[in-house]
Amino acid sequence: MSFYKFIGGLFGLAAVLVVVAAIRTPGPSGAGTPPQIVADLPVDPDILATHLAKALTFPTESSFAQRQGGSPEFEGFIAWIAEAYPLVHANLNLERVNTYSLLYTWQGSDVDARPILLAGHYDVVPGGSDADRANWDHPPFAGVIQDGVIYGRGALDDKPNVIGLLEATEYLLSTGFMPKQTIYLAFGHDEEISGPAGATKIAELLQARNVSLEFVLDEGGVVTTGETFGISKNAAAIGLAEKGFYSIELFVDNTGPTHSSMPMMETPIGILGRAIIRLEENQMPASITSVVGSMMDAIAPEMAFTNRMALTNRWLFGPLIVNQFQAEPQTNAAVRTTTAPTMISGSAKENALPATARALINFRILPGDTTESVLAHVRRVISDPRVRIEEVGGNDPSSVSTVESEAYATISATIGEVFENTVAVPYLVMGGTDARHYAIVSDNQYRFSPMFLRGTQGNSFHGLNERQNVADFANVVKWYATFIGNLNGQD
Ligand SMILES: [Zn+2]
Repeated sequence: MSFYKFIGGLFGLAAVLVVVAAIRTPGPSGAGTPPQIVADLPVDPDILATHLAKALTFPTESSFAQRQGGSPEFEGFIAWIAEAYPLVHANLNLERVNTYSLLYTWQGSDVDARPILLAGHYDVVPGGSDADRANWDHPPFAGVIQDGVIYGRGALDDKPNVIGLLEATEYLLSTGFMPKQTIYLAFGHDEEISGPAGATKIAELLQARNVSLEFVLDEGGVVTTGETFGISKNAAAIGLAEKGFYSIELFVDNTGPTHSSMPMMETPIGILGRAIIRLEENQMPASITSVVGSMMDAIAPEMAFTNRMALTNRWLFGPLIVNQFQAEPQTNAAVRTTTAPTMISGSAKENALPATARALINFRILPGDTTESVLAHVRRVISDPRVRIEEVGGNDPSSVSTVESEAYATISATIGEVFENTVAVPYLVMGGTDARHYAIVSDNQYRFSPMFLRGTQGNSFHGLNERQNVADFANVVKWYATFIGNLNGQD
């Protein structure tokens, strides 16, 4: 996935200081609970880093997997895993799904316990043109480690999760650990092109075997300073749902003159332009959905009195909060289906009216809305028979996973154990992940990458100098090992 911006510039609610006797205002929590000390894994962060760096040398660009005659990049990666993780190879059953996606089964000791699935993807976006690559401090597929930083395409998205899971599993196997529940490790090979051949096929395979997963954990939110959520503690963002992605095209055909010397009073571009303006002026309605409500519940205890009061009394302050959210693009995207005209075309000549004027509108659909409801909205708002509306395609938003589950509690508790001074914050994922494909075989899908992101590092997702700190990667491994251990303690 590519969109890791959460909720920027939160509230300016200071003006709303209303004292209402009935208002509940819980005090700050967490201050009295020091993070549990977890013994560091007896694995050397530098050795872990060399493994991740090696994994980055395989240029597993999504499109290479579609090549006729096979992809040596993907085969090379798969062969290297077998060599680098001998205990995983010997103890887990590996199935190659649709050639390049990998499904490992780690048999649990309790046949009655429902299995779980831990996911990642090992395809990457392209390293870029020669000119792009020349701008990297180290080439995108060289796997260079310098000054405690691992450089390379995939260093954030998403090889740390794949390699982190393999390292954690290898380590746990070396200690004789056996999971109670069966654990699937599922590594897709085409997430960056929306996962039709990878995660989709793995999910279908599990469904055909009547597998019913307790939950799925896939990439998603990361750990950052709490600034983005307006809190002073660090925040670990756990995606409960992802928005839908949907596009429509608008066409206006020219039924009159074609020469610009004698135009009609209303031209195709003018008619099209008015339709677009109507869509901008009549947005889909804004609301605080359950996901964003859960986010507010999580951050409220960390906020100063005014915001805390507003966020915990949404029955009263809801409309005000929605107004504040609508004021900025980042927060607006969390409370409504967004409308973005992205492509437009008309005539190719200065003196010719277009035969057809065309525009493409991209919507990101909020849970609660659907492609159908968006299309109905578009038809109602444009309400002009001269504008032809056609669907390009897309998908509905994902289902919404609960924060009330034991799995969520275990994810959240493990965050507290591994990351100091950090609050788990549920959120709505703006981009797409493979997680949604597993909805057909699981109750809940959580989207969290146990990575701490520093400074401008987030800009390197799909970008220049994608990189990972050696120490932070060691924490990824530690988090997964601790998490898998904690699952055995679940009731
Ligand atoms: Zn990704």
